[in-house]
This record gives sequence, structure tokens and C-alpha cells, in this order.
Amino acid sequence: MGSGKVTTGSAPFDFQGKHVTVAGLGVSGIPAAKALHARGAIVTVVNDGDDARSREQAAGLEALGITVRLGDGATLPEGTELIVTTPGWQPGKPLFQAAAEAGVPVWGDVELAWRLRGPDAAPWLAVTGTNGKTTTVRMLAAILEAAGLRTAAVGNIGVSLLDVVLGEETYDVLAVELSSYQLHWAPSLRAHSAAVLNLAPDHLDWHGSMEAYAADKGRIYAGNQVACVYNVADKATEDLVREADVEEGCRAIGFTLGTPGPSQLGVVDGILVDRAFVENRQKNAQELAEVSDVRPPAPHNIANALAAAALARAFGVPAQAVRDGLRSFRPDAHRIEHVADLDGVAYVDDSKATNTHAAQASLAAYESIVWIAGGLAKGATFDELVAASAKHLRAVVLIGADRALIREALARHAPEVPVVDLDRTDTGAMLQAVTEAKRLAVAGDTVLLAPACASMDMFTNYNQRGDAFATAVGELRA
Ligand code: ADP
Repeated sequence: MGSGKVTTGSAPFDFQGKHVTVAGLGVSGIPAAKALHARGAIVTVVNDGDDARSREQAAGLEALGITVRLGDGATLPEGTELIVTTPGWQPGKPLFQAAAEAGVPVWGDVELAWRLRGPDAAPWLAVTGTNGKTTTVRMLAAILEAAGLRTAAVGNIGVSLLDVVLGEETYDVLAVELSSYQLHWAPSLRAHSAAVLNLAPDHLDWHGSMEAYAADKGRIYAGNQVACVYNVADKATEDLVREADVEEGCRAIGFTLGTPGPSQLGVVDGILVDRAFVENRQKNAQELAEVSDVRPPAPHNIANALAAAALARAFGVPAQAVRDGLRSFRPDAHRIEHVADLDGVAYVDDSKATNTHAAQASLAAYESIVWIAGGLAKGATFDELVAASAKHLRAVVLIGADRALIREALARHAPEVPVVDLDRTDTGAMLQAVTEAKRLAVAGDTVLLAPACASMDMFTNYNQRGDAFATAVGELRA
């Protein structure tokens, strides 16, 4: 069983004199262009936009000798041998069609980082899923740190893999969050071990279909060496493991909120236990931590903790470090964040619940809820969410552009639940929403902001939406 360094090499790539096209300026495009140029590639950056900001960025690159073509991200530059793309660019774009016709490979930022790793680079423990990625990766990093390993939480979490791979710092192991977009463009990535937390429809406009989305998520298992970690409660994740082409000896490890079977991690009497990375797993189990060590101890978050523990254990981390790491873990803001208690009512900010799958998980975590929901639905439907959550709802306050969709689902599946429909999409609506929620809540309830929608109709992003909620709660308190 794996306990540290394994060679995860793909052939070193010689960029010297290669014509590489970088698709898209911006956070990943600019560092990619610079890194390729520094390795002797002849780099052309193509970008759809041609505004003041991109012109400024282009000037910086051109000063280094990099060619930049603004206002045309569709045409494949003559002689291109490789495209390195910003992960957000949709696969159906004409540039990629032209590349496919010309037999030109396309890499994303993760693939580039993977290829530029040094020979002694740290192995990657990788996490994807529709929801819970950031939380799980942070828990994993906390556990690895508690084991005395040099590590960092990187990738889609906001820390560029390219920066980490090219930086001075050395690591024993990396906790890597990967989005489905990044996985789509990372054909040769080979993680030490990887987890798919769950699979629910999301970003289907980008991927084209649920099958394509699942297939991209499933790429995270390709070539895994020690463990493919899946969610026992989400069969689609197990199916991806079954289909994966892994290294000889790599194991399928399940996590479950129930009693674990052999080769699983799970929960027994309030204790997180490991029946996978123990001697004689038919008979033995190892206690890892208590449910109360997980913050917050909501069911989906315990699942995240089990997934993180499974990856850490696959890397050979002792049980004690799992407990210490989970105890030291602090959730990021706007993820089931307890904001205040007022008159016996808890106010919880889960602004990061930007899709129905996430909102359903947080609605399941509280008994009696005044739910603040709404925003941009991104093509989602709300029947399943409302039907599953109806029994927890004291009342609902709706905000945002697509609130009618939620109102209609409530009328179908929870007609007895009082609904306040705020007909406004300005930022100030949040104070009114929280005021209404306070009026509807009784002692013991939770006022839960879990919008099940994106925020951009009313706010810059989910952070601002969550901050507006906390500010409003503060005003009620004053
Ligand atoms: P991601 O990085 O995948 O967006 P986060 O850890 O930031 O995930 O959590 C986003 C939201 O998803 C949380 O606010 C919570 O509502 C929900 N969530 C977290 N973990 C899970 C899970 N395992 N299953 C379902 N929903 C979850």
C-alpha cells in the first residue's frame, strides 16, 4: 500500500522551438504563456476580447517577445503544434474544432502544470465532484499537515498549479482540487489517489450532456496508483471507478455515512472508522475521529471528511493525524457559516450553495428552516429539491431573477409552506429578506441562506451575497 513517493511521470516534453498557441489571456493564460516562452516555445496568445485591459496585458507579453492576437480567439494560428487553453473555454469552440481537424493536441492549465513538474515532484491527491471539493481539499491538507507532511491545498481552489509546480517551495504531497473543465483538458494527469465526491447535473451547457460531464469527472481516476475513492451513496461515482483504467493494485475505496463494509470508511456510533487501510479488513476497523470533530457536523460535511480521510489514509497517514487535522480545520466563509443567534434563532450563511444539489445537502442538515432562496437558476429545476426538503421548511423567502421557478415548485410539493416573494433584484433586497425571515422564524429554527442559484443577478458573486446576508443580520441585531 502506498506510503509516500511514487513515480507519477509522463514523458518530459521539450518545448524548445515548438509553436504553442495559448487560448485566452487572464489568470491562467498569462502565466502559461510566460512559462512556455521561458522554455523556448514560440508562443502566440489568442483572445476573444480586445478591450483596454486585454490590450494592457498584451503589451506586457509582447514586451517579452510573445505574439498576442486580440479580438480573434477562433482561428488557429498557422503552424500551431500545441494549444494550451484557459480551462473555461468551451470544447465546442471553433478553435478546438480546427485543432482536432489538424491533429493538434489541446492541454489545459492542469495538464501544463503536470507536464512541467520536476522529476522529484510531489504526488497529487486529487478531488473533484459537483459539490464539496474546496471543503474536502482543505480538510485533506489539514490532515496531511497534522501528519507533519509539507503540503498545500491547490488547483481550482484559487492557487494556480502552475505557480506551485514552478515555485521554489518543495512539497511531500499536494491536495489538489480539480474542476470538470480542468479535467476535460488534462489527458495525461495521473494522481496518486483521487476522489469523486458526488455527481449531480451542473455546467451541462459547457459539457453538452450529463454523460460528457460524468466522463470528464471520471478522468480523475485515470492511472490512479493507490486508491480510487468513491461515494457509496452515489452510484454514479462508483461506476466511474469501475470504468477507470488504473495502475495494477490500485484499490476502490468507498465512503459512507453508514456502517462501512470492507474497503470502506464510514460511521459507527458517532465515530468515523476506517475499514480499508487496516490489517485484516474483514475483521478489523480503525477509529479515526468523532463526528463532533467535523465542523460543521452536517451529514454532507461528514461525507467530505470521510473522503479526505480516505485520501490521506491512502497516502499512509496515521489515524491520529486524521483526528488532529479535522479538529484544526476551519471551513471557508459562506459555506454553512454560522453568522449569529438572535432570539433563539440561528442565522446560517450557505451562499456557496449555488446549485440545487448543494442546497439540498444543507437543507437536510437542519430540522426547521426559514429558507432564503433564489437568484439565477442556470437552467435548473427545483422539484426534486423542494420535494425532498419540504418537511424541514417553516417558511420560504424568495429573492432574485428566477424565483418564480422555486415558487412554482413550492406550490406543487409544499403548498402549505408560507412563501414571501420579494419582487426585487437590487442588492438591498437582502435586508428585506432577512427581516421577513426573522418575522417568520420561531425559537429553535434556523434561517438558512442556501439560494440553490447563482448570485450574479443581484450581486457580484456568492461572497458578496453572503456578506450582504451577514450585514443584514447584524442590522437586525442592532
Ligand atoms: P465546491 O468547491 O465543490 O463548490 P464547497 O466545499 O465550496 O464545494 O461547498 C459548496 C457548497 O456545496 C456548500 O456551501 C454546501 O452547500 C454544499 N456541499 C458541500 N459539501 C457537499 C457534499 N458533499 N454534498 C452536497 N453538497 C455539499
